[in-house]
Amino acid sequence: MNERKRRVILRRARALLQDNQVTAPPVPVERVVKGLSVQLRFSPLDQELSGMVYVKDETPIIGVNAIHHPNRQRFTIAHECGHLLLHRDRVTQEVHVDKAFPMLMRDSVSAAGVDEMEIEANLFAAELLMPEFLLTEALGNAPFDIDDDATVSALARRFRVSLSAMQFRLGYLFA
Ligand SMILES: [Zn+2]
Repeated sequence: MNERKRRVILRRARALLQDNQVTAPPVPVERVVKGLSVQLRFSPLDQELSGMVYVKDETPIIGVNAIHHPNRQRFTIAHECGHLLLHRDRVTQEVHVDKAFPMLMRDSVSAAGVDEMEIEANLFAAELLMPEFLLTEALGNAPFDIDDDATVSALARRFRVSLSAMQFRLGYLFA
């Protein structure tokens, strides 16, 4: 992902947070996407499916796998929202289905042939659910050790994301 694209994605996520006056975690991701006139549908899907997104009669619809942990569902909603805002044409042409996403964000991964769209949607989701400004605020001035499991899991709980999502995010931002 080039720097310009990265900045566009961050700007989109931050604008949404601002529009919704989000000033503290957890980010109310359902309210945020409903504000975009998105229909959310929760239903039990195969374990390996996270969710999907498509546009029907101009109404964007996000499907979420209801059997997954609620924190994972939050990430799915944010990820599919990213597709809607960043890849609207693609998800209008055909239903976009996501299998369990590995935390793909780094360019080394895209070089290995992973779909650029997924990396972009993941970066959007991470910035929406774990905004840099809220993480910085939450960490305060205390010395931070990414291997301090107690701190990382407390942050994961506070932001209502999975532990692995928080670990990845902290590594991406601060390591
Ligand atoms: Zn996706």
